[in-house]
Amino acid sequence: MNILLVEDEPRVAAAIERSLVAVDYRVTVSNDAHIALKKAYDLKYDLIILDRMLPGNVDGLEITKKLRQDNINTPILMLTALGEVADRVDGLSAGADDYLIKPFSIKELLARVAVLLRRPKNHIGSILKVEDLMLNTLTNEVSRSNREIKLSKREFKLLTYFMYNPDQVISKERIINHVWDADALILPNTVEVYMGYLRKKIDKAHPDRPKLVHTVFGFGYRIGIKEDV
Ligand code: CA
Repeated sequence: MNILLVEDEPRVAAAIERSLVAVDYRVTVSNDAHIALKKAYDLKYDLIILDRMLPGNVDGLEITKKLRQDNINTPILMLTALGEVADRVDGLSAGADDYLIKPFSIKELLARVAVLLRRPKNHIGSILKVEDLMLNTLTNEVSRSNREIKLSKREFKLLTYFMYNPDQVISKERIINHVWDADALILPNTVEVYMGYLRKKIDKAHPDRPKLVHTVFGFGYRIGIKEDV
């Protein structure tokens, strides 16, 4: 596994590099945003660990936005200084996959890295794919068996979250945290209602195709090709 580490603080960079190399990852360290951005286009990295604050006029956020705009979907773990709460939210909306708040423990870092690297590579460019269900994160188009599916904004956001995490059981709490704003009014059955909408449009409208929307009773929901057990 190749990891690109972009961090301008030499001591932090060295500590992270050492711990990643110790568990057999190959690490390329860069302390310059422009060089890092160029390297990221190589597509040879399985993960980018990116410091939010970098010297010069390009920061981690800008790098993330630029890569996502150009369809580079390498997972990004953003490192954010303590207290930059707004920044870390910005990081996720710019297209980072996860963030860690400094100072963090190496154990925590390794755990997050492992999760991001395990994530199935079900996307090519801006297209997420689960079986014959396709979602384009740039054009917001969704289709199944090449037939267009019309979704509301909320349904689209919900489906995108599931398609970035195919075949993972996702709890109601996680769904609410990722798909609804913190101040949104959420009734006890809101998630069920929206999952029902997705099921109708994805599965019930395509009765000849395998079911993709699964309820895992007591745990949450899963969208994927695995059969129910
Ligand atoms: Ca920094």
